[in-house]
Amino acid sequence: MVARHDLTTDPRLQEDLLQARRGTAFFARKLNELSDEELDGGTLLPGWTRRHIVAHVGYNARAIARLIEWACTGLETPMYSSPEARGEEIQFGATLSPIALRNLFDHSAVHLSVEWRDLPDADWSNQVRTAQGRTVPASETAWMRTREVWMHAVDLDNGATFNDIPAPVLERLLKDITSAWRTRGSDTGLLIKVTGTAENGTDLTFGDTSAADPTIVTGPLPAVVEWAAGRGSSGVAAAGPDARAGEVPAAPMWI
Ligand code: ZN
Repeated sequence: MVARHDLTTDPRLQEDLLQARRGTAFFARKLNELSDEELDGGTLLPGWTRRHIVAHVGYNARAIARLIEWACTGLETPMYSSPEARGEEIQFGATLSPIALRNLFDHSAVHLSVEWRDLPDADWSNQVRTAQGRTVPASETAWMRTREVWMHAVDLDNGATFNDIPAPVLERLLKDITSAWRTRGSDTGLLIKVTGTAENGTDLTFGDTSAADPTIVTGPLPAVVEWAAGRGSSGVAAAGPDARAGEVPAAPMWI
């Protein structure tokens, strides 16, 4: 029997799925605002047109749906057969006609939503592997998708900004990025201060909190995440050894 609502009864997971679906709806809105001709235009990602982003977001939904099938059946179905295959698929997708590209996005999003909806509670803790080789419970796929749709909606470069992304998504994104820096040791001497976010008015701090004389990057949450994700430095300020004449240094790589 096909359920009309998510089978999971876990409120936290239901909230995570809602966030992913909201992000998907937001991406769909920005995509629908673009004419077919505008799909040929440039984006915030070097070397990628809007066609590449739409293809990537569509194939990403299919890849995540494969992880849900894996969690459901126990049969290993990786996101992509190889990094090369993933790249080739995007290059191919970018050559599709506008209508085919839009269908790819729509159909893959609906398919993923249905896979999520029909996964029973017991299977959400089953382990699957991401394209980066991390082993995670199937429940992590909600966040994996959330991150993609919100960020790439901004990357489409037709009006969406980091201010459109909900604060809980921004905070989790910043935690992801700064912990990737930590793992690589690329955050040495770099302190990130997000101004005025926590409910009690105190700042959120990330990065190298043990540095004696750190370079400090500060700003409101959306601006700091935009900078940390390598999408520009408007709205952030920097001071310290790596901020010559107050210039904001480039954020370390995180992906
Ligand atoms: Zn992506």
